Amino acid sequence: MPDTEYVLRIKDLRVEYRVREGFVKSVDDIDLDIEKGKFTAIIGESGCGKSTLNNVIMDILSPNAVIGKNSRVFFNGEDLLKLDRERLRQFRWRKAAMVFQAAQNALNPLLKVSEQFLDVIEDHETGEKKRESLQRINKLLELVKLDSRRVLSSYPHELSGGMRQRTIIALALVLDPEFLILDEPTTALDIITQSYIFDILTDIHNRLGLTMALVTHDISAAARLADNVVVMYAGKIMETGDIHSIFNSSRHPYSRGLLNAMPSIEGETVKKKPIPGSPPDLLNKPPGCVFHPRCGLAGEICAKEEPGLEDTGGGHKTACHKWREALP
Ligand code: SF4
Repeated sequence: MPDTEYVLRIKDLRVEYRVREGFVKSVDDIDLDIEKGKFTAIIGESGCGKSTLNNVIMDILSPNAVIGKNSRVFFNGEDLLKLDRERLRQFRWRKAAMVFQAAQNALNPLLKVSEQFLDVIEDHETGEKKRESLQRINKLLELVKLDSRRVLSSYPHELSGGMRQRTIIALALVLDPEFLILDEPTTALDIITQSYIFDILTDIHNRLGLTMALVTHDISAAARLADNVVVMYAGKIMETGDIHSIFNSSRHPYSRGLLNAMPSIEGETVKKKPIPGSPPDLLNKPPGCVFHPRCGLAGEICAKEEPGLEDTGGGHKTACHKWREALP
């Protein structure tokens, strides 16, 4: 069997935000690998650190962020944290691109869509002729199921929210990146448009063989799209594994809580059970397992010792002292 290839390998990543009251630990010494050609979902509640993780990769952290001295973020073997500004600028869009939350509002309202695509290509000095660029842009717009002639000659306000979002997805692909991050890509859209965009994302992943990461609080979106899942909580990784192992035999009480809180396709017959309590204050995290104040399985050890990510077989890893008891 061929060795697994990774596009992204994160080691000991720590990101803190300096605030008046001290340091908010947003990402707390995590290791994470993103497999090449796979669709990985990074899921967790708001404030779990998933967006900070993206912002590190894309070099768009806010100025009060401090990255740990031992942190490493390797993209195809190259440490992004050591790149200078120009190399990082080249990296963004060409190697990795991102579709932001509510990205449909990110298009420039004063420029026609065609100009916005051509500007990105020009900015990155590809040397491509305009006619060739337009041919490629047409194909990308077709990939996201848009009428390219109509869209390219429109201003953003002439398109619906769903059309703008699909335009942004095509724009993210315009420099043929190796890795596409989607940060809550359908949050502001109605449920039918969300579903259509999920179909398009699946199609892009399958047709281009692109490595993709979906960052979401919506576990049902992960179920629909992902090959692999990373569950985060309070800046820590709680569990990782392929989609089947997470959904059918999760070994972590937090992941199981998220699954129990997921709306059932059987409607009212199975009631949702929200996880009791709320995430901790990141300025003052609880000792031991960061989930212990909310965990029904917590024992004495949980408040004292922090569990590491333990290999539980089949490529599945769980950070829980009692994962054997949490098995379904
Ligand atoms: Fe719950 Fe303890 Fe496992 Fe944390 S380590 S998830 S508190 S059982």
